[in-house]
Amino acid sequence: MAIAEKPPAKKTLTKKQRALEIFDRLTGLYPDALCSLDYETVVQLLVATILSAQCTDERVNKVTPALFARFPDAKALAEADRDELESLVRSTGFYRNKAKNIQGACQMIMEKFDGEVPRTMEELLLLPGVARKTANVVLANGFGTNMGVTVDTHVKRLTYRFGLTNHTDPVRVERDLMKLLPQPEWENWSIRTIYHGRNICDARKPLCGECTLVDLCDRRDVDKPKGKSKRKSTTGKTQSKSTAKSRKSPRTAPVTSTAKKNTAKSTKKSAITKSTSSKSSKKSPKKSPVKQ
Ligand code: SF4
Repeated sequence: MAIAEKPPAKKTLTKKQRALEIFDRLTGLYPDALCSLDYETVVQLLVATILSAQCTDERVNKVTPALFARFPDAKALAEADRDELESLVRSTGFYRNKAKNIQGACQMIMEKFDGEVPRTMEELLLLPGVARKTANVVLANGFGTNMGVTVDTHVKRLTYRFGLTNHTDPVRVERDLMKLLPQPEWENWSIRTIYHGRNICDARKPLCGECTLVDLCDRRDVDKPKGKSKRKSTTGKTQSKSTAKSRKSPRTAPVTSTAKKNTAKSTKKSAITKSTSSKSSKKSPKKSPVKQ
């Protein structure tokens, strides 16, 4: 799809109106989107979120069943043998640091917070390995409180591409989003943006031709050549990697079918309940009540 002109609608919208319209469309695309991590308690949510740093949720979900079967709660994790803990989380990467942080956080939970995950941003940030992103995930999905906007790599990239922030630093991106979006939807924004980042707006190859947000999106930096890597063409001449890739067959499937198909794939887990369905329902999808 050729994307030559900015649509009239976008020109007439303020940044805030555009953010809300993007959120509405994302809600329509991913009405049942929920946190992709598997957990049964808030401690397990905290641990899974720490493990998700520099790792996919899919990979984390492969690791946590055995981890939580062996060490189900904060006490068990605080007293765990470090070598065993490391071996259980090894495939998530940075496993030594993650095991150290998980154990340190659980020890602090046992010693300082009577065995319960703290419920405030201030206290959560005291835990080893917990920065604002992890704290926001725990507060929103574990306790149902939006104290900030979770900014992971997808949220950071898409918010910048949308043109809703001029920053790439997560804390600044979060601050900008908090000004644009209603507080009850902060976590819903993050979850749905993450789904869109996974399904359509890939870091290296965003499918703008299939994207229903194209008329609202600045597509900032999207058309810039990626990297300087060169590869030899069949004629012996060098060409950029991005140029070579762009010569593959264009995708023409409509966005709704692609996105919904992928969404269905992503949401098929039993932990996900269908709590929202209509466009811009403004309801917050929630998993089953989380035990402490
Ligand atoms: S795929 Fe393109 S149009 Fe869609 S959100 Fe990403 S950059 Fe914007």
